[in-house]
Amino acid sequence: MNTNHQILQATCTDPEVCTICGSVYGPALGHDIEEWETIQESTCTTIGKERGICTRCGETVEQDLPLKAHTPGDWEITREATLERDGLRQQRCTVCGKLLKEEKIILTAEEKMALYKKQCVKVSYKDLARDPDAYKDQLIYVTGEVIQVVEASSSAYYCIYRVDITRGSYGIYTDTVYIYYDGYGKTPRILEDDIVTFYGRYDGLTSYTTVMGATVTLPCIYAEYIEIVR
Ligand SMILES: [Zn+2]
Ligand SMILES: [Zn+2]
Ligand SMILES: [Zn+2]
Repeated sequence: MNTNHQILQATCTDPEVCTICGSVYGPALGHDIEEWETIQESTCTTIGKERGICTRCGETVEQDLPLKAHTPGDWEITREATLERDGLRQQRCTVCGKLLKEEKIILTAEEKMALYKKQCVKVSYKDLARDPDAYKDQLIYVTGEVIQVVEASSSAYYCIYRVDITRGSYGIYTDTVYIYYDGYGKTPRILEDDIVTFYGRYDGLTSYTTVMGATVTLPCIYAEYIEIVR
């Protein structure tokens, strides 16, 4: 037993030590605060502060409050999805505006079809035949009576339909167009005499030679979607 030690009890800020040799026997106690009072609330970007009085030493102590979580706002579309590319949407904090989340808007097959159809304009046979360059590569739709069906023999080929698209009196259709459709194996099948709406891209005029040796020139459409009217 060493009688040369003189122990000084720990306080809030000083450890338990020997005043003679300086040996440390225990850690400082730390302040003992029972009640904290908020001086400044935290936000999602600034640190707040709180204050308390130590019940042991009477010292006034301040400490930081943790940052608050951001407040997610509604999703906002920053780029509409198109047929060619995905859209983009963002969610920001309503308080500080920080970008919290960003995700792609990927159209479902149904949404893509609806958007595609919406972009198609109705064009008459006369317009297609008279001024093919004005409509070439545009998205169009035509409704008419299917007069000939050539179904694809494999997925490497298009189905081909000849369709009369001008509806005259008594519901008789005339004016034939050529329609290509990537429809191998798809149902419902298109049959002759069906009334069908074709949505697709106008490819201009196409010519072919009949068995009789005559040259026939027809407007040609690459259909993307098909709707059987009856
Ligand atoms: Zn000592
Ligand atoms: Zn204290
Ligand atoms: Zn925020």
